Amino acid sequence: MKTRFPPSPTGFLHIGSLRTALFNYLLAKKEGGSFVLRIEDTDRERMVEGGVENIISTLEWAGLHVNEGPFIAKDGSIKQKGDNGPYIQSERLDIYKKYVQELLDAGHAYYAFDTSEALDEMRKRQQVSKLPTAYERDSMDNQLVIGDEEAKKRVDAGEKYVIRLKVPREGETTYTDLIRGDITFQNKEIDDQVLMKSDGFPTYHLAVVIDDYLMGVTHISRGEEWLSSTPKHVMLYNMFGWNIPVYAHQPLLVNEKKQKLSKRHGDVSVEDFIEKGYLLEALINFVAFLGWNPGTDKEIYSLKELEKDFDITKMSKSSAVFNREKLNWYNKQYLSSMPLDEVTTRAMPFFCNMGLLPCSVEKGTKEFEEIAKAIDLERGRVDTLAELPQAVGFIFANELSYDAGLLVWKKSTKEDAKNKLMEVKEFLEKIDEKDWTAGRLQDLTLEWIKARGYGNGDVLWPTRVALSGQKNSPGPFDIAGVLGKEKTLVRIENAVNALS
Ligand code: GLU
Repeated sequence: MKTRFPPSPTGFLHIGSLRTALFNYLLAKKEGGSFVLRIEDTDRERMVEGGVENIISTLEWAGLHVNEGPFIAKDGSIKQKGDNGPYIQSERLDIYKKYVQELLDAGHAYYAFDTSEALDEMRKRQQVSKLPTAYERDSMDNQLVIGDEEAKKRVDAGEKYVIRLKVPREGETTYTDLIRGDITFQNKEIDDQVLMKSDGFPTYHLAVVIDDYLMGVTHISRGEEWLSSTPKHVMLYNMFGWNIPVYAHQPLLVNEKKQKLSKRHGDVSVEDFIEKGYLLEALINFVAFLGWNPGTDKEIYSLKELEKDFDITKMSKSSAVFNREKLNWYNKQYLSSMPLDEVTTRAMPFFCNMGLLPCSVEKGTKEFEEIAKAIDLERGRVDTLAELPQAVGFIFANELSYDAGLLVWKKSTKEDAKNKLMEVKEFLEKIDEKDWTAGRLQDLTLEWIKARGYGNGDVLWPTRVALSGQKNSPGPFDIAGVLGKEKTLVRIENAVNALS
């Protein structure tokens, strides 16, 4: 079993590409197979500087380790590993030339010399007569019309040409798709696809088939948008006399409005999600469920567990909806369950970017521990790491500003809130430092409230608002535990003043 991920380096990695990479990685892992990374850079105009590095580092970041393909060496340069390289298509031009020559020799391909004006005209004609747009090989300027000798002469004379696939006009072709079953198409519906462009670069269709074959790829899982290309590929496999790989076309990825996911509609690159503070584990888990599920209630899956349970035949045929709320839900799950040190370490860059902390706060320092405690208070309440600095901001603030009305519980009065705050302050002042933990504070205070015959809300609401300044926040004892005695008393005092 060998699978592959063959992105084009046209910019940051799309979240849909992460899904494709993940499924191919899982497919290979499950069978103890090999996972190949190949860079498809034959469309020179669409290439983006740094695109290859971005692909490699994103896969590494995601833990989708590649068995064969390009990698970034210690010195920062791009190297390649594996016996079937090179794994960058622009370094394989001679290979494509050799194989396209085989097709030419066998009469499965032909030279065509049409100018772009002539092709435009052909298309216009077809539009007017409402004919399908397809290359008219019987009437255009190509080898089949002018004859082999004439064509060769023009090629030798240095004239510009492309090489096209000579699609059989009869018969049908069938291939297997693990998700969609057997698929049969009529050969005559396929266009005479260009295989080799006039710049000497192969088209995607030619290169992908040759590379998948030579690299020993057995299983191809890719997005549904490639479904219409597959007949052309299968045809090429047949012409070369090669075994056809097994296909598995993943369902389309759409947004909540059922539109294809695209940059125009918001975040799509993996980079965007990292910057927004999504955790790797949540992203992977979420993406794995875009079109697949284990058929049980289990929703939380680590990469290791996915490697065991993933089954491509259980993939759905209908579009997978990218639901942001679900992603947030996943992120929350992981934020809450991950070791606190780990969450704190990962949150640090967000604090540093906001200028709230020096960027060099290290694990084990007092500062780190303080931030960790504050994060622990809020991590169950935020969706992303990026929301943490703001969420815990009130803990570190020197002074809170109070909305006096907010300090008053339900039907109570300002006067009463003020009295309760003064009393609770007096009570808390007497509590020993060694008892100053959230749990102890809660036990002692609740006992005190009961002994006094007060309502819990009458005391706890103003206390909580005094400590947080907010309508919604963690409970008063949790906050007091993190703030420490001194800061707690100062805040209550300030709230009393705000009510005076
Ligand atoms: N280079 C294509 C892409 O950008 C690969 C498609 C395929 O998997 O065959 O996605």
